[in-house]
Amino acid sequence: MIRVAVAGLSHETNTFAEGLTTYDDFARGRGFPGLMRGEAMAETLGGKAICTGAFLDAAEELGFEALPLLWTFPQPSGVIEQAAYDRVLAMLLANLEAALPVDGVLLELHGAMVTEELEDAEGDILEHVRRIVGPETPVIATLDLHANISPRMVAQSDALIGYDTYPHVDAWERGWDAARLLVAAIEGRVRPASALAQAPMLIGPPRQCTLAAPMQDIIALAHEAEERPGILNVTVAGGFPFADIHDCGAAVAVTADGDEALARATAEEIGRAMWERREEFRVRLTPLPEAIDHALRTGEGPVVLADGSDNPGGGAPCDGTVMLQALIEADVPRSTVAIITDPQAVAQAIAAGVGEQVTLQVGGKTDDRHGPTLTLTGYVRLIADGRFANRGPMYTGIEADMGRTVVFVVGGVEVILTEQRIQPYDCQALRCVGIEPRERLLIGLKSAVHFRADFGPIATAIFEVDTPGVHNPDVTRLEFRRLRRPMWPLDEIDRPDPATT
Ligand SMILES: [Zn+2]
Repeated sequence: MIRVAVAGLSHETNTFAEGLTTYDDFARGRGFPGLMRGEAMAETLGGKAICTGAFLDAAEELGFEALPLLWTFPQPSGVIEQAAYDRVLAMLLANLEAALPVDGVLLELHGAMVTEELEDAEGDILEHVRRIVGPETPVIATLDLHANISPRMVAQSDALIGYDTYPHVDAWERGWDAARLLVAAIEGRVRPASALAQAPMLIGPPRQCTLAAPMQDIIALAHEAEERPGILNVTVAGGFPFADIHDCGAAVAVTADGDEALARATAEEIGRAMWERREEFRVRLTPLPEAIDHALRTGEGPVVLADGSDNPGGGAPCDGTVMLQALIEADVPRSTVAIITDPQAVAQAIAAGVGEQVTLQVGGKTDDRHGPTLTLTGYVRLIADGRFANRGPMYTGIEADMGRTVVFVVGGVEVILTEQRIQPYDCQALRCVGIEPRERLLIGLKSAVHFRADFGPIATAIFEVDTPGVHNPDVTRLEFRRLRRPMWPLDEIDRPDPATT
């Protein structure tokens, strides 16, 4: 029977975020165990709506033996401590060596991992794996749509298969594609040959959303290209723009059957299509007062305000106060802010007790880039354990843990205070603390785009609001030093083709 090593080593690194990501961050669970190995990994992740879930499910369906090595995916955060990365990678590689001989390797990577010494950690992971299994053994990795794909990642793998959706609702499907292609390569039915085209574009998350043009059209073009003879896979990565590294930005990776020239031509064609529509990729944020006025004027909720600049799902602290302060000052009735992570405020509210009035220092404690700490007097409505399982279309069934959680009410505004940083993209983040989103006039979410999958269908209007932060959807607000230049829209580039210098 075919033997396939299966592993997941993921992190989305925001190099603008305060503090380093440590080994404890890899080890700490967030609703499910933080770092799993061997059979425990297979038991927890089999059947789950993520890439590794599909790898494991495919083993049964396609008839190969899956050898689970290691899986970890901490919450996005700052640059990874070198020693932490070295330790986790060494565990993965030791388990791979112990599993030998293998016929192929399936890796669930994110694609935007940065350590103290490595700008391109995924390139490094793939190179280490390649060294162990040798040049003839197929190695295929899945990637998030927010991968910053480097030439080295393409050179060190047989294929890179990225998500086609943002909100990410196709992780399982892409994992399945990867497993199917790997088996075909092992059996010699295909000979994957890959190429990369990088577009000199930094695209803010809101315009990478695949539910609307222009990204929807680019993905449609990718799907059309996948139907052409000889093309095995097309991956369009919007890129993770909050990484000040050389290879940051949009890219297209294509795998063809034994034909690298075809892969290259196809990647360049789609890269050019993105470049030609660059003006449509430009992010324009709405001033907070304008969004709040809309809610007050129409009176029809829920109006959703996306505070993308403080999105913990992209490494932001999730304790930003700018949106909360604006809602309190406008005293917006029936409004909810989900969430503000502040373990100190949570502890004080719990000490005060349910039904009590208390004055708290809320938020703004991680750095000075997300608004000041607010002194707020309010009412403790509810205390909860903050645990829920996603019911929406994204990572359905995956468990989340906000830590101890408090609903704190200041006038018409209720704020969900948590111990853990979690992106509230699933309605269950509100419902698990007794808040029905449909009954709210206004909901402020610490999320850039993912919330659209579950909140989108119930929202009467959505505004991407202009707040400050390390995940600012308007990337021109950030300062880059190591990024390759010129790069649109930081620099105006006047040329018809992204590849022409
Ligand atoms: Zn992503």
